[in-house]
Amino acid sequence: MKILVIGGGGREHTIAWKLLQSPKVKKVYCAPGNGGIAGLAQNVPIGVHDFAALAQFAKDEGIDLTVVGPEDPLLAGIVDFFQERNLPIYGPNAKAALIEGSKCFAKSLMKRYNIPTSEYESFLDYESAIAYVREKGAPIVVKADGLAAGKGVVVAETLQEAEEALRQIMQDHVFGEAGARVVIEECMRGEELSLLAFVDGETVKPMITSQDHKRIFNDDLGPNTGGMGTYAPVPQMSDKLVEEVVETIVKPMAKGMAQDGIPFKGILYTGLMITEQGPKVVEFNARFGDPETQVLLPLLETDLLDIFVATIKGELDAVDVTWKKSSAVCVVMAAPGYPGEYPKGEVIQGLDKVRDGVTVFHAGTKETDEGIVTNGGRVLGVVAIGENLAKAREAAYASVQEISFEGAQYRTDIAAKAMKHQEQ
Ligand code: ATP
Repeated sequence: MKILVIGGGGREHTIAWKLLQSPKVKKVYCAPGNGGIAGLAQNVPIGVHDFAALAQFAKDEGIDLTVVGPEDPLLAGIVDFFQERNLPIYGPNAKAALIEGSKCFAKSLMKRYNIPTSEYESFLDYESAIAYVREKGAPIVVKADGLAAGKGVVVAETLQEAEEALRQIMQDHVFGEAGARVVIEECMRGEELSLLAFVDGETVKPMITSQDHKRIFNDDLGPNTGGMGTYAPVPQMSDKLVEEVVETIVKPMAKGMAQDGIPFKGILYTGLMITEQGPKVVEFNARFGDPETQVLLPLLETDLLDIFVATIKGELDAVDVTWKKSSAVCVVMAAPGYPGEYPKGEVIQGLDKVRDGVTVFHAGTKETDEGIVTNGGRVLGVVAIGENLAKAREAAYASVQEISFEGAQYRTDIAAKAMKHQEQ
């Protein structure tokens, strides 16, 4: 089969890499791809929003399946666009993807299906929003309803911070239309982690748990990023707790959406907070996480293509989804200055020196005559598999030492909390 992967980050590199392990996959194209993907698949210079050109390419090349990585094209209706043209595509349609595109929509579904999450109210009007935060008091969480690249959420420790966030979102319109409505939530406390699941409407096949490290610096300090590293599975999360999340959150969400005529077909990403009252939903995403994918897919034993094809046919229940009994750690190497301004075009050295069993998934890179150069904020995800977390972590960091580019920065504490938990 010929596959087209849409996107050009570390997540898409990992999806392409995994699909190529399937004996049924003959060739993978990636639009637009990146410098690392070029080594195994064919990059296609079409942007993720150019649906007409992507569909034309799929038709002309006889693509058997298109797989969508990022959320933006999903929300903009790429799945609907392809389906209207009878082109096979994996991912949720625009209506179902709205669980990621509108926090208000996601919250209203959770309320309707009795899914544990923080209490909330939504507001279109600034005065009422201000009155509500004054009534509730701090700490309190203020969110722009729509997508704001991770910047639309303020966890306000004081009333003043909450009021300032409301002013910026609703009066200064710093997030434009995404902030036309705000969601104000009760502040939850606890450990955060994710549970992704393959969903074909009603059937849910959970993955193993994973945990991202969002802040730029060690000890969760500094500004938020797209994610500086991940590991899987998460030892702090017992099998019993995973079972509880699947039964009280993931399955009711899929079932409710199917019954409401918006069946979700694709990757359902549940962001969780393990509070004193038990696991609660922080957010849903409608696709693979980045960099969670980089640790999940190397541990997946099942043929990913089989899962995708079965999902489209509504036959996911017949697929046995199994996982390696190992651990994986991903350390992200980022450009200097990220998540602020950063340079591009720095030559990357040492990519050929990584240890056996370590894979480098490229995020922001480009192939040039000088070799592979940096071309984004998050540059590489260095991923190691080990029989346990300690071994995976050691191998990932040993390979990070071998790779260099001017000003490279990375966290040195990826999976450190989990290791401490294991020692206890
Ligand atoms: P955007 O839409 O701007 O891209 P996002 O989808 O990443 O943002 P959320 O996942 O809802 O937004 O929130 C971002 C982070 O804020 C969470 O990972 C969590 O750490 C924190 N957060 C969100 N909601 C709550 C809450 N109710 N209580 C405590 N912390 C929260």
